[in-house]
Amino acid sequence: MQIQFLGAARAVTGSKHLITTQDGKKILLDCGLFQDRGADNNTLNRNFDFEPAEIDYLILSHAHIDHSGNIPHLVKKGFKGVIYSTPATYDLCEVMLADSAFIQEQDVKYINKRRRREGRPALEPLYTAEDVSDALQLFKTIPYLEWTDLDKNSRFQFTDAGHILGSAAVHLEIKENDNTKRITFTGDIGRPNDKILPPPAFFPQADYIICESTYGDRLHTSSEGAAQLLLDAVMDTCVRKQGKLIIPAFSLGRTQEVVYALDRLVNAGLLPKVPVYVDSPLSINATDIMRKHRSLFNEALQDYMDHDPDPFGFSNLHYLRKVQDSMQLNHKEEPCIIISASGMMEAGRIKHHLKNNIDSAKDTVLIVGYCSPNSLGGKLIAGEETVRIFGEELKVKAAIKVIDSYSAHGDYKEMLSYLSCQDKKKVRKIFLVHGDHGAQQAFKQRLVEVGYQNVAIPYHSETVEI
Ligand SMILES: [Zn+2]
Repeated sequence: MQIQFLGAARAVTGSKHLITTQDGKKILLDCGLFQDRGADNNTLNRNFDFEPAEIDYLILSHAHIDHSGNIPHLVKKGFKGVIYSTPATYDLCEVMLADSAFIQEQDVKYINKRRRREGRPALEPLYTAEDVSDALQLFKTIPYLEWTDLDKNSRFQFTDAGHILGSAAVHLEIKENDNTKRITFTGDIGRPNDKILPPPAFFPQADYIICESTYGDRLHTSSEGAAQLLLDAVMDTCVRKQGKLIIPAFSLGRTQEVVYALDRLVNAGLLPKVPVYVDSPLSINATDIMRKHRSLFNEALQDYMDHDPDPFGFSNLHYLRKVQDSMQLNHKEEPCIIISASGMMEAGRIKHHLKNNIDSAKDTVLIVGYCSPNSLGGKLIAGEETVRIFGEELKVKAAIKVIDSYSAHGDYKEMLSYLSCQDKKKVRKIFLVHGDHGAQQAFKQRLVEVGYQNVAIPYHSETVEI
């Protein structure tokens, strides 16, 4: 059989790996959007290197858009098979893909403006809300640890990857002649000490592992002091300077992590009485889905919920869905905390809050997630003195603070410990995906050092025979 690496190969986004079995069955692992290739994103996302109608099954590791975001387009282009995911991944895809369709429709307007100027024909959006609802019809949800037959020669199960709610590693067993090949796709690997999710679960012995490698060259700083840093930022901004603390955060995962950290500070009697606003409809939807799946939380959080049933709610916390409510925050003078998306500050309501407050010395922007260097968040981290928001050049007078211990991806030690459930001698080959080439080379080195014999870093669209 063959595996072809069609996305997140020597790069991080566009996750897509195609297995073609000896009897011609085609199993696609993930169908994500490319998001980090600048002007090439559009071409890469519009052209599959295969015929969507020929794919029999799509198995989805988790709901992040760089893993799931091109599914509606796949369906639009003729895919009619089954999409397998965990139940929580399905729930998250409902809101994440709808949001992505909205962004696609907005983006194409911008692209078409340029194309019109150049005298080129207008493009359709990559997909629309209607394509999303067609795609959702094809999902079949499978809980963790349940072996599911794809056909008479192949079956798979999901194990908890601990990366985001519902995230899974995929374990396939495919029979060829009298030989069964065991292939594991890790998806994205979470962390052993996540505040909300359990540690990534150990998984059955594999012959081949398609393994992520985002932080193959890095160790995270300890998350021990994160709550104190958060409290320090609140005290300094909201109490001492009487300003606004603005926290850009990914809608899914990071927002809930920050809200839960504030909830703990409230219960410990440490948080001053300032209003807290979560200002992002997608974050609110994601929080509701998290609440629905409390059985997926780790033990510590489940114990906490015996005393405080809602870890994502406290008396001063307000979830703002309506645009008018969001706009009213601009006129408020009193100190407050605003948590809004997107995390890299490239889109969403956060841009309005930054535009209104970035030139105010009493306010603080607290960055709690990864920002690519070219994003607005990346520029603030780099200490640029002015930034352009909605076409306006603004002086950065607000304090910029960073807490860099939050991450949904394991570092190289955490990934090695996740893989330690495997008998190294039985692993015939590891394919590293989902990482920059430098991080992958470093991780490959470490894997070889601990005894894995055969580690490859496939390039984009490379096909390997296994
Ligand atoms: Zn992910």
